[in-house]
Amino acid sequence: MDRRTEADEGGSARAGLDRELQRLDGAPYGRYRGLTGAWALPGGCVLRLVRAQADPFAPPARFAVRVPGELAAFPRELWDSPVRRRALAGYLVRRAAREAAAESAYHLDAGGQEVLDRSSCTVAADGSVTLRLGVALPGPRRRIDGRAARQLLWEGLPELVGRALRHAASDPAEVAEFVATVEDSAALREQLPTLGLVAFVADGALLPRRTGADDRPARGTGLVPFRTPDALRVTVRLPNAGTVTGMGVPEGVTLIVGGGFHGKSTLLRALETGIWDHVPGDGRERAVAHGDTVKIRAEDGRPVTRVDVHAFVDHLPSGADTADFSTADASGSTSQAASLCEAVEAGARVLLIDEDTAASNLMIRDARMQALVAKEREPLTPLVDTVRSLHRDHGVSTVLVMGGSGDYLDVADRVVMMDGYRPYDVTARAREVAAVPTGRRAEAVSFPGVVARRPDPSSLDATARGRTRVRAHGTDRLALGEHEVDLRAVEQLADGPHVTGVGLAVELAVRRGHLDGRRTLAEALDLLDHDLAGPEGVAALVGVHDDDYAVPRRHEVAAAINRVRALRVRR
Ligand code: ADP
Ligand code: MG
Repeated sequence: MDRRTEADEGGSARAGLDRELQRLDGAPYGRYRGLTGAWALPGGCVLRLVRAQADPFAPPARFAVRVPGELAAFPRELWDSPVRRRALAGYLVRRAAREAAAESAYHLDAGGQEVLDRSSCTVAADGSVTLRLGVALPGPRRRIDGRAARQLLWEGLPELVGRALRHAASDPAEVAEFVATVEDSAALREQLPTLGLVAFVADGALLPRRTGADDRPARGTGLVPFRTPDALRVTVRLPNAGTVTGMGVPEGVTLIVGGGFHGKSTLLRALETGIWDHVPGDGRERAVAHGDTVKIRAEDGRPVTRVDVHAFVDHLPSGADTADFSTADASGSTSQAASLCEAVEAGARVLLIDEDTAASNLMIRDARMQALVAKEREPLTPLVDTVRSLHRDHGVSTVLVMGGSGDYLDVADRVVMMDGYRPYDVTARAREVAAVPTGRRAEAVSFPGVVARRPDPSSLDATARGRTRVRAHGTDRLALGEHEVDLRAVEQLADGPHVTGVGLAVELAVRRGHLDGRRTLAEALDLLDHDLAGPEGVAALVGVHDDDYAVPRRHEVAAAINRVRALRVRR
């Protein structure tokens, strides 16, 4: 059997890696490649060299270490459901990264505050654990250093397994808390639709982050824990924590108002990341949002391919057909209109918009501006006139941060005011204020819905010069085949591996024929979801490529497809 395609299983693993490394000592660096395949390690693990390193300066060689279930020996209740397996893997990879921190040759993707399905560590349905990591193989003067390699692979990895991936060495309370926290968060999210909610933030949650570039919880004095206003208090039951109270954000149109610097964006950002489960100690463990929640923002310069945006943009001075709208360089308002319609097309149930990053002319047009500029001269219809219909007719809820305009008071089901980082329900007061007419006239009666598009898979080809090319540049950019996809405005991406996962998912959707030129984007995403939620799980994306990745949501996959400049679609 080709060693490269062998499974991680122990049966076919070769013995004698230590002797082999001794033998290779001093050989040309390229001979590491001959080790490709599976090897038995001392103690019962199997090490697989997936991809060797071409030279000492190339990216590290990729390895997978499989720890059989009997050896890992975690109690069954830590891995007997998919969510528990994801949580246990999330715990183990963080622990392994901590234990391996002193050895700079090991490269482990531990992830950040959110617990995603990651390729770097997976727990299988039999309780076995696989750790996938990069190891920089030692090669002074481009020769194999057999002794150092033996130290890293033959001695170091079994030691790492012993310290980090076995129950015997773990802190039972810590691992149990990690798994329970993730399971509770996922269960809470699943309960939202039956409770008629789009989001929930528990009392006591700590939402602010350390800095704009550091997602860890803020520290120090002056932190204000979340406290639910009485009118929005909801009690939920979680599988592990039991009864928990907090603020339920109901379906419909919710407005977050309040003075500048009072915590509006921080609350919205918590909902944005509430699509993920967070690690214990994060502060947002019980701040969750519906899984189909999508943040929308303005993004001038983005490409748009054949989107029906006429609900928001019509009668452009150029005469362009906005019911079938394409551009290589959208404006702030058209980009936001397109992103909103695309999100609904891909199945979003909740839209989040922050005035800080929105195009104001797409959000509002007040009575005075209506009086000055006739509707015939204004191509834009602001969201304030369709946001109710989005929910009523299409089941899509909206949570808006809007401190600067009162026009949304007319259309909001709920108004939450942030004051000194504390939320207050001011819906009744808002109704009184809204009872005084402003003279503003509605410019639309309803949101007409979206036109489904059928992407042409050949315009999403992931090959470049005969090879699959999927490479993330942080969360900013995805290289997919010949395409360079700008993702800076796609805010619900956690990290580089998550972006890699998006690219791999597009590749998979094309390779498996989910995107076949006839299916709509939403239909193809359904099939992709089915693959990623199935028994294959994370592994559905393995094999294309051996870099670290995290499994993405359909919404980020759609967002990437929509930003491919060469995208072609039929309608
Ligand atoms: P707004 O959007 O209302 O202008 P932000 O959400 O941007 O306000 O918050 C302003 C500042 O207050 C930020 O630096 C944020 O980290 C901090 N902050 C937000 N919520 C809290 C809180 N609960 N406790 C302490 N500081 C907070
Ligand atoms: Mg703000």
